[in-house]
Amino acid sequence: MNKVIIVGSGPAGLTAAIYAGRANMAPVVVEGLGSDHQPGGQLMITTEVENYPGFPEGITGPKLMDMFRQQAMRFGTQFFTEDALKVELHGPVKRVWVESQKEPLEALSIIVATGAVARWLDVPGEKDLQNHGVSACATCDGSFFKKQEVIVVGGGDTALEEALYLANLASTVHLVHRRDSLRASKIMQDRAFKHPNIRFHWNKAIVEVRDVTKKKVTSVLLQDTVTQVVSEMPIDAVFVAIGHTPASQLFLGSVDAHDNGYLRVNHGTTSTNIPGVFACGDVADHVYRQAVTAAGTGCMAAIDAERYVSALEG
Ligand SMILES: Cc1cc2nc3c(=O)[nH]c(=O)nc-3n(C[C@H](O)[C@H](O)[C@H](O)COP(=O)(O)OP(=O)(O)OC[C@H]3O[C@@H](n4cnc5c(N)ncnc54)[C@H](O)[C@@H]3O)c2cc1C
Repeated sequence: MNKVIIVGSGPAGLTAAIYAGRANMAPVVVEGLGSDHQPGGQLMITTEVENYPGFPEGITGPKLMDMFRQQAMRFGTQFFTEDALKVELHGPVKRVWVESQKEPLEALSIIVATGAVARWLDVPGEKDLQNHGVSACATCDGSFFKKQEVIVVGGGDTALEEALYLANLASTVHLVHRRDSLRASKIMQDRAFKHPNIRFHWNKAIVEVRDVTKKKVTSVLLQDTVTQVVSEMPIDAVFVAIGHTPASQLFLGSVDAHDNGYLRVNHGTTSTNIPGVFACGDVADHVYRQAVTAAGTGCMAAIDAERYVSALEG
């Protein structure tokens, strides 16, 4: 019987594997497959990570995740490069179905580290210019655009948080929103309206990001959602802040979740409502969403799982 199965191989899952491996738990990682569930997680689409401690010159996302994986392998992690298709979490034995095995994988505990996916606008130029001025994370990429003009797209609390963060770095933040009022809380709105560096563009939707041929963001095409008139606006970067979707679908119905789909953990731990089921990283965190916080909670999950399994084994 395995001691722990970890689903997901981003910073959270692989850190959990490193700690579980060093605790002699011989972890099994179901690491995902394909572009939807890419092994290595969200950082695999990032060129430059400048805020992960220990890398003063910065490091590319894929290189960082390769190093995480090597370290997890060094301590005896077994990898299944495929998706978890179905899970059974109640009862003392946890089960995970994967395509390559006739029988489900079984373990005494399970760590859910399936992460989240940023929502994008799905307009021409957006995908091609990711890492070249299009971003979904101001904390990650804001400092590349110091004293430049940037757009933040969205109208909720996240968009205003991103705008306020960027307003201390960029020369001007243009908040582009498709409606004429914001969904964000009153307190965030008051802060944003008062900020001298934030300008609001109401009833506007980005319909194209330019210039793919120059491999950098130079402007956007904005469509007025009332008059439908399209205009071009020169800009240096576009931060899309229209939300993230946690990859929690497989676990909903068994594991308690917040209304927004993020898994619920008991405060200060990674334990969920089900004994032996732990959740870490972005799938249980709609606030911080950083590689280092994901790694931190991955460490917590492995320690929580080890203590749970030790208590079971007496
Ligand atoms: C473009 C971009 C740039 C970023 N830059 C930075 C940065 O510079 N610094 C920073 O700190 N953070 C950055 N972030 C945020 C950071 O990537 C995330 O906070 C972090 O990756 C979360 O780690 P995680 O392990 O929780 O989840 P993820 O990295 O999302 O990994 C989840 C894993 O679960 C797997 N998975 C999902 N479902 C299944 C399934 N059914 N079966 C098997 N596997 C499954 C996926 O394949 C993936 O391996 C960036 C994010 C993006 C999108």
